[in-house]
Amino acid sequence: MPDQKTFPDYKLKSGWNALLPARAARPALEKDISVDVLIIGAGWTGISAAKRWHSLSPEAGIALIDASEIGEGNPGRNSGFLLQIALGEDANPDQIDKMNLCNSLTASTMAEILAEIDASGHEVDITKTGTYRAAASEIGLKSLQNYRAFLEAADLEYESLDATALRSRIGSDFYQEGLYSPDCYLAQPAAAIRALASLLPESVQLFENTAALKLTQQSGGWQVQTPNGVITARKLVLANNAFSKELGIGRSRLVAMHTYAGLTPVLKKSVLDELGSDETWGLLPTHRLGSTLRRTTDGRLMVRSMHSYEREAHREKIIGGLQHRLKKRFPQLPSLDFEHYWGGAVGFTFNGGAVWGEFEPGLYVSAGCNGGGTVKGTLLGKLLVEAAHGMKVPNVPKLFGRASWMPPEPYRKVGYKIAASVESHLGRHEL
Ligand SMILES: Cc1cc2nc3c(=O)[nH]c(=O)nc-3n(C[C@H](O)[C@H](O)[C@H](O)COP(=O)(O)OP(=O)(O)OC[C@H]3O[C@@H](n4cnc5c(N)ncnc54)[C@H](O)[C@@H]3O)c2cc1C
Repeated sequence: MPDQKTFPDYKLKSGWNALLPARAARPALEKDISVDVLIIGAGWTGISAAKRWHSLSPEAGIALIDASEIGEGNPGRNSGFLLQIALGEDANPDQIDKMNLCNSLTASTMAEILAEIDASGHEVDITKTGTYRAAASEIGLKSLQNYRAFLEAADLEYESLDATALRSRIGSDFYQEGLYSPDCYLAQPAAAIRALASLLPESVQLFENTAALKLTQQSGGWQVQTPNGVITARKLVLANNAFSKELGIGRSRLVAMHTYAGLTPVLKKSVLDELGSDETWGLLPTHRLGSTLRRTTDGRLMVRSMHSYEREAHREKIIGGLQHRLKKRFPQLPSLDFEHYWGGAVGFTFNGGAVWGEFEPGLYVSAGCNGGGTVKGTLLGKLLVEAAHGMKVPNVPKLFGRASWMPPEPYRKVGYKIAASVESHLGRHEL
């Protein structure tokens, strides 16, 4: 095995997956195989790519591999915000035609996700609750102002809320001001990805617990080494987010940024009564180092916050940091323990752009979710496959950005440390 792992290997289990009934994983690959197309990464991007490839080339032999199990891996570790419109940092009120096109693409992708979840027959907790965005200090208020300008320019529905209104809805005095936008679904992400994977066409061979360790280009295609078998494929799709760089693609553009979440047990009625009038809600931060919050339909609080560069932080640090953030927001509550806490790797790019397109003949990549790749990943996975089939597709780099260059290590890590400490200082009241 190489020194640097080519796949995520988390020490902490996904809390969302732990809440679901056990699921039998599909067997790992145990022999050499040959296929027309191999897709690496069975997440939002990879599952969407596999389905689209099958629908455009039903005769193609397709294999889909994942280092983890469906629901347990990164796609089931997020906060479950499925946004129909641009995330805060992507929203640009000065380029509204472009933004409107992005919004309509993500909205139709969201409709497809919902239709698929429905068709799967799986019971998935997914509701159009909308989302709050809230600011606790000057820097957050400025970014809230930008988001409001974007919503206005795009003629999207929203509601402005002062501190009192926010307090009465979510039970927190932490924020000075907020916006409520209805264009977001909140999902149990592990259940959602299980449902989406269950509708993979039968002819797509899914191998779980099968990590790609090394890619080799050969005449007429690619060879991919996995722990117990080699896959030979004419075409290769990398849908493994930050880890595509460990396979040699996007090295100068991608970082694996780990972020963390904690989920309380179901709270007692007396505690829930302190949490305002909304029975289920989600809140996104206005600052990139801020915290995401959720009150789930079954009466838990979730907090997502903190970042670490390229590796999982220690559990004591994670629990302490998340508890501190929850306490700051809900000082009136008795001290809350987590039933589950975990982390996951976000494919981070310096300018928020995607690593997307054909990088070598027959090697296609869609990576760099930047913390908002559930719906966007589903869309970009599908568009990548359409482009691979020579179809005319929207200009992804123009619409969603092209990941910019970052200096190599060790300069990159030093740059990250400096930028993170400056940002943490500037955004200290939002943490
Ligand atoms: C705590 C947390 C909260 C988040 N909250 C949100 C949110 O609310 N909304 C949102 O949109 N996004 C959120 N994100 C980001 C979200 O997880 C991603 O946007 C989304 O999962 C991207 O989907 P993807 O399929 O592109 O990549 P991933 O979900 O990263 O999936 C990549 C898959 O590739 C597999 N893989 C990696 N390397 C290999 C290899 N070498 N061989 C085989 N398989 C491999 C992985 O196991 C994984 O299953 C959050 C992330 C974290 C960690």
